[in-house]
Amino acid sequence: MPDNVQIGDQLGGAFDAVIVGAGFAGLYMLHRLRGLGLSARIYEAGSGVGGTWFWNRYPGARCDVESLEYSYSFSEELEQDWQWTERYASQPEILRYLNHVAERFDLKRDIQLETRVTSATFDETANCWTIVTDRGDRVSAKFCVMATGCLSTAKVPDFKGIETFRGKTYHTGHWPHEGVDFTGQRVGVIGTGSSAIQSIPNIARQASHLFVFQRTPNFSLPARNGPLSPEVAQDWRVNRVEYRDRARAAPFALLIEQSEKLAADVSPEDREREYEERWRRGGFAMLGAFADIIVNQEANDTAAEFVRSKIRGMVDDPAVAEKLLPRDYPIATKRICVDTGYFETFNRDDITLIDARATPIEEITPTGLRTSEADYQLDSIVFATGFDAMTGALCNIEIRGRAGVTLKRKWSEGPRTYLGIMVAGFPNLFTITGPGSPSVLSNMVMAIEQHVDWIAGCLGYLRERQFATVEATVDAENEWVAHVNEVAGATLFPLANSWYVGANIPGKPRVFMPYIGGFAVYRQKCDEVAARGYEGFALCSGAQAASH
Ligand SMILES: Cc1cc2nc3c(=O)[nH]c(=O)nc-3n(C[C@H](O)[C@H](O)[C@H](O)COP(=O)(O)OP(=O)(O)OC[C@H]3O[C@@H](n4cnc5c(N)ncnc54)[C@H](O)[C@@H]3O)c2cc1C
Repeated sequence: MPDNVQIGDQLGGAFDAVIVGAGFAGLYMLHRLRGLGLSARIYEAGSGVGGTWFWNRYPGARCDVESLEYSYSFSEELEQDWQWTERYASQPEILRYLNHVAERFDLKRDIQLETRVTSATFDETANCWTIVTDRGDRVSAKFCVMATGCLSTAKVPDFKGIETFRGKTYHTGHWPHEGVDFTGQRVGVIGTGSSAIQSIPNIARQASHLFVFQRTPNFSLPARNGPLSPEVAQDWRVNRVEYRDRARAAPFALLIEQSEKLAADVSPEDREREYEERWRRGGFAMLGAFADIIVNQEANDTAAEFVRSKIRGMVDDPAVAEKLLPRDYPIATKRICVDTGYFETFNRDDITLIDARATPIEEITPTGLRTSEADYQLDSIVFATGFDAMTGALCNIEIRGRAGVTLKRKWSEGPRTYLGIMVAGFPNLFTITGPGSPSVLSNMVMAIEQHVDWIAGCLGYLRERQFATVEATVDAENEWVAHVNEVAGATLFPLANSWYVGANIPGKPRVFMPYIGGFAVYRQKCDEVAARGYEGFALCSGAQAASH
């Protein structure tokens, strides 16, 4: 797009903005850009909208942030009209909701499905991005918004012999739309993270025998899911503004009651009572029991031991219970899981838990898999092996900024961003819930809305003042990266080999990617940056930008 083209003047094959991804983030971004009068197109690899909720159709898939909170807040009418049926909605219901949103706000006409963006290149002369897709599209856009998701690049480990398996394999993050019937089958599930913990009780009910291959036991809290009571729904309708404001002011953008007390402030009996009460409430409530659970090892130990004692109480066979106890990392430093009947499932006769750390998987065979100890005959294998989190989807696109430098190269030693929203050297490119922002450590719908609103505000500002480009400065980026690391270093988080530090992807640099300073603090920082005329960003007019 030539310099003199103003935002809003769409040319053939040119947009004010291209958005990549049609999940919660992309859909709301499109809505906001429309509101600014900008032309925009979404490219989405999937054959439908919904992102996470389009792809993850494994049995038992549901949110673990309560649905009243895990939903958009930007439209009062939407919030008043939509009725969630359960405390934690299932995947089909969330997908219906996102389709409803896309239709209600007439978004679908600007969404091109089944189209993967393969490259995005910044043209320093014309100050625009050229976006190329696997369907042969080649369009230009003044702005490019990556709404590609933190958990959208499924990871299948590189097992020897995987191609020789004669049965069926599935990844929880790419589940067949028609569903899978495991009745009468011997099924292996590899992995025991969130998706495994949700799906295992359901697969176990169908399979003739289920083998769970566990490398790292996980902490999981009971969801206490159930129908959403009309009283709770009505209370939300009446008080939604207050609840949303409270969530925005909370560390994880969640309405869990966060105690100010330290674990050592109370007697062991009172501590136990507090944990018990929060365990009874279900979900993430337990994590708010004391203020120092994620910063003080001793406080953390009390919470971890409480959960371990619960696991011992739920699993009949002490040897199996022992294997299920997470011991080598502090509680909450890997994504905490929320389950319905996970641990109790191991009391069935037709399930076997294999410790894949003690007896590692050596290869997949034509008829199953072999560990260092035994051969397992399997009809199907489910890879619940997670995602190349936070950076995977971005680095899969050839994103070239100034001087042709790729984002992948720039991030070869770990992601570097300013506020998790922009990257120095990549003008007019925004990353919704990018690394360096609270993202996966918060209620992500709130985090997404905050980013989208901020980006929309920034684009409005550029238009009013006739700036052609906005770009994070190297200094601001360096300071932010140092701050993100410093804050993470003050917590117990870096102690765990989690996907937060990329530990599940061989060769990925070990960097704590999300921002743990708290959602409210972060939001305030973003607002202040904007109020100070986008401090830490270089804003240039067309001519200046071209000579940058
Ligand atoms: C099983 C599961 C359960 C979850 N539960 C919760 C929860 O309870 N609470 C919570 O806060 N978060 C949860 N999350 C995190 C969840 O990812 C976010 O809440 C949210 O859905 C992210 O929305 P998004 O739009 O940012 O990304 P996504 O929903 O991941 O959408 C990104 C989209 O971008 C597309 N895309 C990526 N690259 C390209 C490309 N190159 N070209 C075209 N399209 C591309 C993908 O196909 C995808 O559809 C969960 C995640 C998973 C996997």
